[in-house]
Amino acid sequence: MAMTHDIAGAMDSVRERVGRACERAGRDATAVQLIAVSKGQSEAAIRAAYEAGMRVFGENYAQELATKAWALGDLPDLHWRFIGHLQRNKVKIIEGARATVDTVDSVRLAQAISVRATARAMDVDVLIQVNVGGEAQKSGCTPDGVPRLVEAVRALPGVTLRGLMTVAPHLEDVEATRPFFASLRTLAEANGLSELSMGMTHDLEQAVAEGATMIRIGTAIFGPRSPATR
Ligand SMILES: *Cc1c(COP(=O)(O)O)cnc(C)c1O
Repeated sequence: MAMTHDIAGAMDSVRERVGRACERAGRDATAVQLIAVSKGQSEAAIRAAYEAGMRVFGENYAQELATKAWALGDLPDLHWRFIGHLQRNKVKIIEGARATVDTVDSVRLAQAISVRATARAMDVDVLIQVNVGGEAQKSGCTPDGVPRLVEAVRALPGVTLRGLMTVAPHLEDVEATRPFFASLRTLAEANGLSELSMGMTHDLEQAVAEGATMIRIGTAIFGPRSPATR
């Protein structure tokens, strides 16, 4: 990526959007954590965001995360969140990067994380990904399956369940995403979970209005991704 893109300026703009959305919702802006989604972005771009104060980065692909975690290992306090679909045979990469896993959607995946974590005397923070829109192409457990999965994850050693995560359907009318975010909040409340990772570049205002505690922002910080990256 050309470094002509002003990452620090873009981060300021995102923070302003979050600030305004929080003000409208009567929420404290410090209650919304910004995750910079760096899939498909260069190490230089991540360093620029880090220089501008960003400490939490989201990656979607296990191998890309492993490469970047190694290359950027000199940056103190940098925290990785894995936000893509995780295959059970790639769980070891999470361990190396000391990443949290925001996309647990099955008992078997949670068990695989638990086995690795306990073998290394680690504790891994996780979120359960919920497919709130019931979309065939999206991963995530069904809303109906949440209570059972919550119970199973809570019973596992080496894994701490912090909350729920979702990617809302991409709708032309962005206000129409609000009921999906509201349904994630209701599910979290019903299951005694406090963290809600929801909202991306195009729908962060709606997610914040519905109680997001983490938003995952790629394009609005780094600019457009190369077409090869989903
Ligand atoms: C890519 C991605 C994002 C960031 O999307 P933008 O629209 O670029 O902000 C957030 N969450 C997930 C799960 C993603 O895959």
